[in-house]
Amino acid sequence: MELKTYSKENPKKPVRSVSGVTPLTVVLKPRKCDHGTCIFCPGGDYVPQSYTNKSPAIMRALTFNFDPYEQTKSRLNSLIAMGHPTDKIEIIVLGGTFLQYEIDYQYEFIKRCYDALNGKDAKDLEEAKKWNETSQHRCVAMCIENRPDNCSREEIKRMLEFGCTRVEIGIQILDDEIYKKISRGHTVKDVVEATKNLKNAGFKLGYHVMPGLPYSNPQKDIELFKKIFEDGNFRPDQLKIYPCQIVEDSPLAKIYKKIGYEPYNDETTKKILSEMMRLIPGYCRVMRIMREFPKEKVIGTPATLHLRKEVEDEFRNKGIKVKEIRMREIGFNKLNDENIKLKILEYDASGGKEFFLEIVNDEDILFGLLRLRIFEEELSYPHPPTQDLHSLGTRDIDYSCPDFEIDDKISQSQDTHSEPAFGQVSSLKKDIKVDNVINFKDKSFKKNSSSLSINSHRAEKSAEGDFGAIEISERSEPNVSNAKRAIVRELHVYGQALNLGDRGEAGQHKGYGKWLMDEAEKIAKEQGIEKLEVISGIGVREYYKKLGYEIEGFYMVKKL
Ligand code: SF4
Repeated sequence: MELKTYSKENPKKPVRSVSGVTPLTVVLKPRKCDHGTCIFCPGGDYVPQSYTNKSPAIMRALTFNFDPYEQTKSRLNSLIAMGHPTDKIEIIVLGGTFLQYEIDYQYEFIKRCYDALNGKDAKDLEEAKKWNETSQHRCVAMCIENRPDNCSREEIKRMLEFGCTRVEIGIQILDDEIYKKISRGHTVKDVVEATKNLKNAGFKLGYHVMPGLPYSNPQKDIELFKKIFEDGNFRPDQLKIYPCQIVEDSPLAKIYKKIGYEPYNDETTKKILSEMMRLIPGYCRVMRIMREFPKEKVIGTPATLHLRKEVEDEFRNKGIKVKEIRMREIGFNKLNDENIKLKILEYDASGGKEFFLEIVNDEDILFGLLRLRIFEEELSYPHPPTQDLHSLGTRDIDYSCPDFEIDDKISQSQDTHSEPAFGQVSSLKKDIKVDNVINFKDKSFKKNSSSLSINSHRAEKSAEGDFGAIEISERSEPNVSNAKRAIVRELHVYGQALNLGDRGEAGQHKGYGKWLMDEAEKIAKEQGIEKLEVISGIGVREYYKKLGYEIEGFYMVKKL
């Protein structure tokens, strides 16, 4: 595979890599979901279920007959041509419910994405992943879109085997009655279980939420949105908020008149979004608001796509502080790295304890974050599954969508996502201090409690280069046994993505990653846990090796 050289000056669309990693979307071949079709879902026979044939990502995929290798290769070349750094890539698998596709297709699809990044064909997925650890274009994160009822132990194991680090599930609205009426085919209980299983496996977890569904109303949307964060059974790391629209070919398009349904207008949507943004806690990132459907595919008035910007501008103009991660990221704010400090938020979630570590300045602008989960072992994946079934080398898989051709102009636009980042190991500036940041706390380690706490920390870098002992006067008592596990679900240092070896201005490659990992190790040790596990994108393994971690099963692990 021939690739052009990258230029780091002036990427044409810097927002794409401003969160540290360059996203690369690969689309699945069309396939109907097993449960049928959700009322709002537009997918037809010839395009992936949740998309229309006019969506740019789908049109791009159609030109390659949904071949993952060709899609990855072509997108990589476009990103290089646009001046984006491409040595840290997040693969995003889009289109349908991936875990419901034929198993061989799933393995081959992922292998071919790695092959394209590696520029050579491996004999099997394991070899492709191994090569990618040191490849020029490393897969540092992988996101799979999924349903809450496709997160069984076996399915989670498979996602780990693929090298997936982030899972997004559609929860839309937490209401079983509405789920039935809109043909979702799963229950709130499925959401609870998926959330717990995915977090225990170490995944970063995103929810898709849909205000304005039939049978809901603004009040109900807000009440049930509150529940997402007040109830410890939920508490996702990320959100996508896509208000419901009537899209051609969806079941809703056929019945909306009969059921007297109307989507929210812009004014109502804006009010709801504004209210939701204020409710989102500091550990959650809003990845995207508003789903972009081609105008000609929307029945009625299409929703205004830049409502998020309008809402955020209003917050900024009125000086309203919002805790949500994206608005606080250094990539979207003025660089000021004076008085950098570490802040730790501790909260209960899905029967475990989450420690959310943030490196921030005085204005709460975010330079890096780490998510550490401590929980009683209920799901464990200590060893990769046997290789006999899926180390079969390249197989003859039909990626294509039958009998369908397009002649539309192909757009080069691409979804923008966020992702973990990694940098080289380096020591921190000596003058960094961590000041007390005490708010409220919770001493217990109870299952499914809804309390939150923020702890006080003070750390100073000693002359020898280590951070001094951290006083943890306000943290809950260690209450762990050998059955408890500690797993880092996300390490992310912000700033414009840099290629390996480059020095960063904003955050990446300044040693913030090591600082966060040091703190996570101390917290795990303090909780009586003997080893720290990290879910790591395949291309980040080298970074963790430098920090003393070794591969064990699906995780990078260090004895403490
Ligand atoms: S689960 Fe997703 S892709 Fe499947 S029908 Fe529902 S919205 Fe569409």
